[in-house]
Amino acid sequence: MNPTEIIEIKQVSTTVPEPVIDSLATIRDMVSACIQCGTCTGSCPNAFAMDLTPRQLWYNVLMGEKETIFHSKTFSLCSVCYYCTLRCPRGLPLTETMSALKQIAAKENLAPYKKSILFYKSFIESLRRHGRVREMEFMTLYFLSMKNPFMPLQFAPLGMKLMGKGKVSFEIPSKGNGALESIFRKVEELEQS
Ligand code: SF4
Ligand code: SF4
Repeated sequence: MNPTEIIEIKQVSTTVPEPVIDSLATIRDMVSACIQCGTCTGSCPNAFAMDLTPRQLWYNVLMGEKETIFHSKTFSLCSVCYYCTLRCPRGLPLTETMSALKQIAAKENLAPYKKSILFYKSFIESLRRHGRVREMEFMTLYFLSMKNPFMPLQFAPLGMKLMGKGKVSFEIPSKGNGALESIFRKVEELEQS
């Protein structure tokens, strides 16, 4: 099957749509007991790269400042290490909150996260087919979804380097054996319900 038939690319919106407001209410509840102590920021290994620290992000969530939140890179840089969750003195589910913000951005196809959304979708597509990520297929799906013919050129030096070390190999995208398909479908059902 041609990979272009497999990945479904939705139009990316340029504004923060109305449903985000309702979704934020749930997230606000998750961090409502935050005392702004900053332990989460001090614990986060990725805070150095974030434009808002985790503590600042929770403040914006509590204030309902959705434009600030959904124009920030912070939650998209969360690598789900759980340090903040483990160390928060109020026991707040911070990692889940970061994930909930990612889910809103993906669901609403928000423009600032276009690359991240397509990157994750391509990653999951390859994982779903084979039970592990096949790097060459994953990157092929990602490049096709970005619809940028020059993008592979940016990654060519890195790709050559990794191939030289035997870290990636040329593989033709395939449908896989479908062994994980029932699990993915069940999760999709649960998410919808
Ligand atoms: S560690 Fe917990 S209480 Fe402290 S700022 Fe972060 S979320 Fe708030
Ligand atoms: S779970 Fe995310 S936000 Fe929390 S410390 Fe790890 S990378 Fe930072």
